Amino acid sequence: MPAVFSNRSLYLRPCMNSTHLQTSVIIIGAGPAGAGTSFFLSKYGIPHIVIDKAIFPRDKVCGDACSGKTALVINRANPDWLSEILADPADYLPSWGIKFVAPNGKPLDIPFSPNRTPQTKAPGFTVTRLHFDNFLFSKMASPRCTIFQNAIVTNITKTPGNITVTMGHAGATYSITAPLIIGADGDKSMVRKQFVGDNENSRTNAIGLRGYYTGITGMHPENFIELHFLPEVLPGYLWIFPLPNGMANAGVGILSDVVRKKKINLREQMLNAIKNNPQIAPRFANATLTDKIQGWGLPLAMHRQPISGDQFMLTGDAACLIDPFSGEGIGNALYSGMLAAAAAKEALEQNIFTAPFLKTAYDDVVYKRLGDEFKISATLQRLCKYPWLFNFVVNKACKSSSLRNTISSMFTDMDLREQLSKPSFYFKILFNK
Ligand SMILES: Cc1cc2nc3c(=O)[nH]c(=O)nc-3n(C[C@H](O)[C@H](O)[C@H](O)COP(=O)(O)OP(=O)(O)OC[C@H]3O[C@@H](n4cnc5c(N)ncnc54)[C@H](O)[C@@H]3O)c2cc1C
Repeated sequence: MPAVFSNRSLYLRPCMNSTHLQTSVIIIGAGPAGAGTSFFLSKYGIPHIVIDKAIFPRDKVCGDACSGKTALVINRANPDWLSEILADPADYLPSWGIKFVAPNGKPLDIPFSPNRTPQTKAPGFTVTRLHFDNFLFSKMASPRCTIFQNAIVTNITKTPGNITVTMGHAGATYSITAPLIIGADGDKSMVRKQFVGDNENSRTNAIGLRGYYTGITGMHPENFIELHFLPEVLPGYLWIFPLPNGMANAGVGILSDVVRKKKINLREQMLNAIKNNPQIAPRFANATLTDKIQGWGLPLAMHRQPISGDQFMLTGDAACLIDPFSGEGIGNALYSGMLAAAAAKEALEQNIFTAPFLKTAYDDVVYKRLGDEFKISATLQRLCKYPWLFNFVVNKACKSSSLRNTISSMFTDMDLREQLSKPSFYFKILFNK
């Protein structure tokens, strides 16, 4: 009988030293990537075990901005969940646009939905990860899903046909077997290390710091998220993202090799901009930092790389799927989880778990859906090295409503966004074509 049709994860036998469980899919990590995978495995009726080392609610260093892709996956998993989010203004703040501030200090407001009607739902929202990840975690509960939190994975082994995970939990040892494992265990993924074998420095292409503040002034009335391309942090940026209840998430993100080469102290740089930058400092004059500033890596999708192999798939940060320009990773983690669940269903139905099968069923699908977006964003990311180009586009856009509308449409239209990476786009702006 194919594993997909079996019932809940099977409790097999308590041995003297460990309890043995068997299931169809093991997921390591219960963040957005793990939750996204679990939602769709449950939809397909596939039993699975999710293991996380943390106890939820748990925090994750992030900018806390969720794009339309996040809403899309949640809506596909269960439309009621999205309605729940949109009806909870105490925890979720709808965002209607983005403010870019060019290196010369010129701001450019780009609404996400320039032609919206009263029925239009906000395309994005902000929410603390402490709250959002706990929301996702609570929605994983299903008869097909067994969850272990506060669990320590001590070993992962692969034998033909079987992955075995050894885990310590609540004073007991478990050995869990399945034909398939999904690494949803974030930037420092042990599944990735085990099966792909690379070291984390080569993957972590950017570093970000975030702090929570109250009392920042000058926010956009429609909760636009703000990206400030300050000359001192290029090719990265400083962000200010409004949150519910007068809170805001402020931080900086920059390429790791720039930090290394220029020996940048990112924390100092962030605090320096907040204290001294003529545009930023007045807005923080009465602001209070409510928590310590924390940092984490952003594994960027700068180029295609294998994200599966014999009996395993990687999702979210473990698969390096963060957008290289915007830093968006939550939506891509959920989205890749959704696609990994579909690939797992196919693999279980056909009882094939080989690298070539999973490459076609998973890698090719992920890169078909997200690959163009990544390529364009990687090009835009490289263009940030040229502040004059940024200044030029923003100056022109401030004067031209049709250019502002074009940039606005780029958030939803990939063909339009691709123009940004072509010299002809700038040529047309230059000559007002
Ligand atoms: C500073 C910063 C700002 C960011 N801002 C944004 C933003 O505004 N918007 C956006 O969309 N993205 C943003 N990102 C990216 C986003 O945070 C990640 O892309 C996203 O969290 C990826 O989700 P994930 O589920 O893959 O990994 P994670 O959210 O990291 O979840 C991984 C889970 O795996 C668990 N785990 C790890 N190792 C093990 C183990 N060995 N055993 C068991 N469990 C394990 C962890 O406890 C965790 O729960 C930002 C990132 C950073 C660093």
